[in-house]
Amino acid sequence: PAGSHVRALVIGTGYGGSVAALRLARAGVAVHMVEMGMTWDTPGADGKVFANTTTPDYRSFWLRTRTKQPLSNFLGFPLDKDVPRHTGILDAEDFAGITVYQGRGVGGGSLVNGGMAVTPRRENFAAILPTVDAGEMYSTYYPRANAGLGVTSVDPAWWESAACYQYARVGRKHAQRSGFPFVFVPNVYDWEYMKQEAAGAVPKSALDGEVIYGNNHGKKTLQKTYLAQAAATGRVSVSALHKVTSVTPAPSGGYTVAVDQIDTTGVTLASKTVTADKVFFAAGSVGTSKLLTRLKATGALPALNGEIGKGWGDNGNVMCGRANHMWDPTGKLQSAMPTAGIDNWDAGGAFAEVAPLPTGIETYASFYLSITKTPHRAEFTWNPATGKVDLSWDRAWKQTSIDAAKTIFDKINAKEGTIYRTDLFGAYKIWGDHLTYHPLGGAVLGMATDNHGRLHGYTGLYVIDGALIPGNASVNPFVTITALAERNIERIVAEDF
Ligand code: FAD
Repeated sequence: PAGSHVRALVIGTGYGGSVAALRLARAGVAVHMVEMGMTWDTPGADGKVFANTTTPDYRSFWLRTRTKQPLSNFLGFPLDKDVPRHTGILDAEDFAGITVYQGRGVGGGSLVNGGMAVTPRRENFAAILPTVDAGEMYSTYYPRANAGLGVTSVDPAWWESAACYQYARVGRKHAQRSGFPFVFVPNVYDWEYMKQEAAGAVPKSALDGEVIYGNNHGKKTLQKTYLAQAAATGRVSVSALHKVTSVTPAPSGGYTVAVDQIDTTGVTLASKTVTADKVFFAAGSVGTSKLLTRLKATGALPALNGEIGKGWGDNGNVMCGRANHMWDPTGKLQSAMPTAGIDNWDAGGAFAEVAPLPTGIETYASFYLSITKTPHRAEFTWNPATGKVDLSWDRAWKQTSIDAAKTIFDKINAKEGTIYRTDLFGAYKIWGDHLTYHPLGGAVLGMATDNHGRLHGYTGLYVIDGALIPGNASVNPFVTITALAERNIERIVAEDF
């Protein structure tokens, strides 16, 4: 309620926010979470909460009147279409040089992601966050995060014979024939449910292309894991369709937090303020960075340091497809949950996820999302003329990532006598180099904050999401975001509450 006072306020309900809420609540602290997206608990006219990949609708995009699908074209045809403006689940947020895809709703990115739950190799983690004790991370916090998220591995015997993973087996064959290490990747999907889908015993979900616009059944999103446990404490409340617009020191101590309540077309219904003793920024790398950059520049939080907005990267994301021969079909039934990757990080700076292309027809395409070792880092800055936060990303920087991905796919193409697909991202375009799924950084650990996420310049303000990680995680990031949040909140609960 407007005007009320809370002990801990958490901005955002993704991985960092959910970990903070659960651990604070278990320590006896009352927590209020503010989320600008919807709760995603009510079915539409088709009886489903979420739409699938082949038929996006009003539920699928955040406040757009036309879809902006990551794969914009197929066989030369543009796929995008008009939709009613709605607080949909996937935000394609446009900056000058890059489109950043993010989940919107209670559960954040867990609502839209592929569920790939990858713990990086220890030496790579140590290189990315050298001030964090890697021994503690691998003995305590990564295991805690994996357990909390419900991470498990696919049954290899089932995988070998399942029609829906033919695309992944083709990916393995091509990787191994070119001498690349092929690795299985754990996931948060309920594999027993997927087996039942394949057997026709339950409604199809991953096997019906349900992923980037939400998943109706088998995926263990944060709604089913951390947030369910947080709710069970009885100490956590959540306001959905509420957007934090300002945080500033309150005259009587603590912070005044300004929040806009919006309707499902994005129109502001009410502007409210609450006070909080402590505030956790968990709005995601972009959300947290945009808020902090603006609040510093406009005088709401002037004592934040000069590292705010810096160290942002795209995790080196780049996508591509390969055109297979007719004797290498990838299958018309493809599970939307990836299970496999090609690890060429040491030799070529690329880790490629063998991704699904769940179109429902045989495409003869192998599709990949590569995570690459990119040195490029952009900065968020406040633009007083437009009243917006800009990001200094340069599209040309993706060439480093393309070159890294080519260390894998040029070699596979040469070995297999195949070529790249040129129909997936617009006419004659091979590389999906306009986007990222993995925004990281902007309020980097040990730079904008201390070594546990306490913002420099203020007492009682914390960053606890992907903004802490400096631009690159070497693998898909959510397990690392969760594990780092587990590490930081343990210290914060012990020392600050
Ligand atoms: P988020 O999960 O982004 O949560 C931030 C939340 O804050 C959001 O719900 C947002 O709506 C809310 N918010 C923002 N601003 C405000 C505000 N001002 N007021 C109130 N609320 C606000 N990662 C993997 O590891 N494996 C995968 O397989 C994978 N696949 C992906 C596929 C897609 C299509 C996408 C988009 C991402 C994928 N990711 C994957 C990335 C992963 O989902 C993100 O790294 C992760 O969700 C980031 O966690 P976070 O806690 O930093 O923030």
